[in-house]
Amino acid sequence: MSGTVICSNCGKKISFIGNVCPYCHADKTKDKETTAIIALIVIGFFIWLIYF
Ligand SMILES: [Zn+2]
Repeated sequence: MSGTVICSNCGKKISFIGNVCPYCHADKTKDKETTAIIALIVIGFFIWLIYF
């Protein structure tokens, strides 16, 4: 899972690196932001579990 994002345009698994999907050439900046936000929520949840 780590290092990949799902393209919101074509649904393929694509590399986190780069700004466009190699399959459909859609801008994946938004997908990376979504992945980063989900990662932050998951990390925040685990920190909450450890400390509370
Ligand atoms: Zn795509």
